[in-house]
Amino acid sequence: MQRMIENLKVSSYAMRYSQFVPRLYNLCRSLGFERERMMPSRAFCSDESQGYPVILITQHFGTFPFDHGRVGGKVAVNRHGPYAHHGEDLVIIQASHVGYDADGKRFGVYQRHRTNGQGFGDNCGKLCAVLHWYQDEYRHACEQVLCGEVDGAPAVIVDNQYLDDKRHEGLFLHLDLIVDRSREPMRVLSTAKAFHPSKLLLERLADADWHERPQAIGGQLTADLFSFRKSAADHIEGHDILETALAPAMPTLVTSANPALDAARFTTQVEFDRTYRSVIREGAYRGKNLLLISGVNIDISPREGFPFPLIKFVPWAAYAALRDGRTFLFEQQEIAEALRKQPLENPDRLSFDESITRMAGADEIRFDID
Ligand SMILES: [Zn+2]
Repeated sequence: MQRMIENLKVSSYAMRYSQFVPRLYNLCRSLGFERERMMPSRAFCSDESQGYPVILITQHFGTFPFDHGRVGGKVAVNRHGPYAHHGEDLVIIQASHVGYDADGKRFGVYQRHRTNGQGFGDNCGKLCAVLHWYQDEYRHACEQVLCGEVDGAPAVIVDNQYLDDKRHEGLFLHLDLIVDRSREPMRVLSTAKAFHPSKLLLERLADADWHERPQAIGGQLTADLFSFRKSAADHIEGHDILETALAPAMPTLVTSANPALDAARFTTQVEFDRTYRSVIREGAYRGKNLLLISGVNIDISPREGFPFPLIKFVPWAAYAALRDGRTFLFEQQEIAEALRKQPLENPDRLSFDESITRMAGADEIRFDID
């Protein structure tokens, strides 16, 4: 799972939004998309940090993008029909996001300049909120499984709660990988049992890890040694689809050095795959030009004096289906190269000041109704 998440490479492909959007515009033009018929759409999280990309999309494409997004950067696939009716040359930009603190070199946080104290907050807040319950369960398990000596031999001491398979939710140890189940427990204690370690654990842990006084297993409780059981939270917006989507990756995410970044990378990969499948079956797109591009938005907290975050886009994949029947699938390196080949200049770029001045000076429209 870690390898799958890391398939989405970050540093070599990250591109400033101010470079990504004109290149994307020019890529669409090179595929035959027409300026006057192009309708962009974005599937971004609801955070204000995603506003700057929307401003740039508006500026370069000359129209405000359709909203195709749900919290966490999921695509509202049930909006394909309405969206398809709004243009002939369609460009869907999907991105999950993660904050970055450039001074502390930390992923998953973003400075909230408009709060009292201006502290750092979780970002993506939604992905982090989903992760917290799992991280807490994992931290607890790291403390409640001990490795050490019992009667002079290596032993794993497991708290009784992890021996109860009937729990509805929680962290479940893969006991066969941790203890030798073919042998009786070495000792039965009041709240735990001591077992002979599995062959795997004996191979993995150094002799020095089997302390005379048993100690918490900590980080040696790796992602392959446990899984979670939890029913996704139900709330006012219904079943939490983001939590359900992240479930298979949870052991990897809670043991990751950068859980928020990895959650965003995983969500982007899952979303591209899911959206691609929904797009190819969507009748409303027939006879239209369509480009779907997915990636991760990295929100770098704005420094003093800058109005917007310095957002970078890390492209992951793209799919194009043209009116003439041609289709293209771009993997990460291919879409990154296709974008880099495009010029940064966009002669069609809109001037906001000029447009707003023109709108303010337009003739008044009055309604003949009280
Ligand atoms: Zn978010």
